[in-house]
Amino acid sequence: MAALVNRFSGFGIGRFFGRFRKRKVADVDGKPNDRRLRILLWAVVITLLCGYVEAGEPLEEMFYGARDAVRARDSNGAIVVVGMDDQTVQKLGHRYFPRRHTATVVDQLFSLGAKRVFFDVLLQDSSSEFDDKKLAEAFARHKGSVFLASMLSSDPRNNGKLTPVEPSERFKRVASLVDVTVESSPFYGSISHNLAYGDVYRPTMAGVLSETWREESEFDRPDFAIRVSSIPTISFVDVLDGKVPAAAIAGKDIVIGGTSQVYNDIGLLVFQGNIARVYGHVIAGETFKRGNPIDIGWLPAWLVGFAASILILFARQRQTVRLAITSALILFCIAPILLDEFLVTVNIFAGVLLFSITSFRGLSARRVLETALANSASGLPNLLALRSINTPQNATLIAMKIRNYAAIAASFEKDMEREIVLELKRRIDFGSGQIDIYHADDTLFWFTEMEMGAGLAQHLEGLKAIANSAFLIGSRTIDLQLAFGIDSDFERPLSSRVGSASMCAQEAARNNEIWKFYDPQRQHEAAWQLSLIGQLERAIDNNELWIAYQPKLDLAWNRIIGAEALVRWTHPERGTVGPDEFIIAAETHNRIDKLTAFVLDRALSATNEIHYIEPNFTIAVNLSAQLLESPTLINMVQAAIRKNRFPADKLVLEITETAHLARSKIALSTMAQFRAMGIHLSVDDYGTGNATMDYLKLLPSDEVKIDRSFVSGICSDAQDRIMVQSTIKMVHDLGRRVVAEGVETQDVMDQLRALGCDMVQGYLVGKPVPLGVFIQQLPDKSTRLAG
Ligand code: C2E
Ligand code: CA
Ligand code: CA
Repeated sequence: MAALVNRFSGFGIGRFFGRFRKRKVADVDGKPNDRRLRILLWAVVITLLCGYVEAGEPLEEMFYGARDAVRARDSNGAIVVVGMDDQTVQKLGHRYFPRRHTATVVDQLFSLGAKRVFFDVLLQDSSSEFDDKKLAEAFARHKGSVFLASMLSSDPRNNGKLTPVEPSERFKRVASLVDVTVESSPFYGSISHNLAYGDVYRPTMAGVLSETWREESEFDRPDFAIRVSSIPTISFVDVLDGKVPAAAIAGKDIVIGGTSQVYNDIGLLVFQGNIARVYGHVIAGETFKRGNPIDIGWLPAWLVGFAASILILFARQRQTVRLAITSALILFCIAPILLDEFLVTVNIFAGVLLFSITSFRGLSARRVLETALANSASGLPNLLALRSINTPQNATLIAMKIRNYAAIAASFEKDMEREIVLELKRRIDFGSGQIDIYHADDTLFWFTEMEMGAGLAQHLEGLKAIANSAFLIGSRTIDLQLAFGIDSDFERPLSSRVGSASMCAQEAARNNEIWKFYDPQRQHEAAWQLSLIGQLERAIDNNELWIAYQPKLDLAWNRIIGAEALVRWTHPERGTVGPDEFIIAAETHNRIDKLTAFVLDRALSATNEIHYIEPNFTIAVNLSAQLLESPTLINMVQAAIRKNRFPADKLVLEITETAHLARSKIALSTMAQFRAMGIHLSVDDYGTGNATMDYLKLLPSDEVKIDRSFVSGICSDAQDRIMVQSTIKMVHDLGRRVVAEGVETQDVMDQLRALGCDMVQGYLVGKPVPLGVFIQQLPDKSTRLAG
């Protein structure tokens, strides 16, 4: 198991933040709430205004109409309409037929047992003396049971002042008056129980019909769910002709009104179409009889819309948003219908509008935000999302790096990244319970309550085992290589914790360890790492950098056939600084090209000297994979070769395998160009990263170097031996040579020889040494080893 606390080094910081910065999404980063808040404010202002000025009234009436259609029902039949219909007008010759007929109808109705007779006809003018007298006499016979219409109408000659329109004096004297004013709306309109005529309240027809006219009242919408077609209607002329049976009239209230088109007394209903206005009064009468409608206005529904909006815009979980939308929709649809049942009218337009605005604009804002906060490959929340959460108190942050993530992704034809990551998440959930997992590139992050210690170490090892067991993706079993980084320094800001966790994971991966723990004590190391880049620049100019040469032994010939050039830094204060410490920092800060040019130039000029002794000697120079995408790399190598008049076929470029290489067209073409120049390519550190054969095939190379972490164990570890053995076979099958690095003992060398390895490199053959020493030892070594 790995040591409890590994050495911390900070070179991941720059790399991490470099990547992080690129991932930022300008519009949403940092201010996702602002945008949603703006949407809410804007929608609130608009809809409050709409509610206040009752904008959207036609739409509101549409909603009423829709509800009426749902609740449609028949009238109770207690009020009968006697319609002056087309038939009447036709038979009696004119719409202003002689009033003596009306007088007959009144008598007729009462003789059939009518309870009361109402006129939805304005009798304000006079006709012939004969007819008016007849009608007035009829009214007088049934005084107290006849009600004549009056209304308030705005007088255009008097500034639109409401003035009563009433029957002529002669009729007024013998009949009661009821009001038939309808408060107009885009549709039929509303009716009151009573209305002020100057100082006195006059009952409305509906108020009298329902005997509720004394109630305090405002204009109410009649319950238009009552179907007009179901209201008993008799033709005026049929009554006149005595064709109506007493059963249809007896005990009923009768309303006489013009139902023929010619009276042009109509109102529009959303779901019932045009109706003769008289029916509105009848329906209002029936409605008021059931109860006094109340109008609770637009605010309640608006508040529902507002509450839903808050949830839609700001709820953390998608599920909550879905719930809010569904509940709001149900409330908007069902609640008004139920309320209508109890004669409670609610205006939903403003609320629905608020809800619609926020769900459309807000959901799209959410989507933008969610895509900005989600990893595009897996859909899991990304680092931006991690940064925006409130860090759980005293929680340990774990970074899990999938070392061969890119290689696995590259080896699939289809896009399987999502499946791999989600399967991994399932397994982590399985081991840790449902937790939030954040995904960035090849690393997953999560918090755990576990404290650093043996328990956590065991937990991670268990996770590694769970993650590795039969990982089936598609129809393939894949082998995940995992490394964990742990940070439990709760005090620091989350961003640095994420940085150190992922850095530790990276280091654990590099050192072939399962996990590594961030050690705050070593933080000053980070400061050195940060200053290192500037110092490195200066070091090249100050000749603090030099090259060590480590021999490569050909196992078939037992001869030193080449060397690897390894850069060294003798720091004036710190002494020797190993390349592991500064190479990655240089790569991260894009300073690697200058360093490489330096090493290449020195190595080639040194090898020219060696060629006096050993003309076939090859020199291996390490090349950072990222340099392969630099457009100046080929020129740089060419320049070094030309300057030193160096035979290109004696140069080997060692390139650490990264999956990225096989995916990058530029890198692949650069590699092909090197080979065309005669330069040999070697895949370095084989086994530590992405060990798939398909992938190796893609890389043009002459040589594969098995990493020392596998080589050193081949005598003691069966797995390492199998890995080395199968690699040797596989590389030979591809027609390439195998170099084993890190050979420290004779046993290992013998074993490698038995396995058919072509070359070895390691302390057993020779440590990296300065050129002078190397040249001195060269003839000696060759003879000793050959012997
Ligand atoms: P590498 O390419 O894997 O180089 C081999 C490393 O293994 C060297 O470490 C070498 O000193 C060490 N080594 C050789 N034989 C043995 C052995 O028998 N046992 C053990 N335990 N170690 C052995 P070094 O010199 O510290 O270099 C570390 C890494 O730094 C190199 O790994 C290489 O990736 C990088 N590097 C070194 N020089 C350069 C350079 O000029 N340019 C670039 N880009 N990278 C370089
Ligand atoms: Ca190397
Ligand atoms: Ca290596």
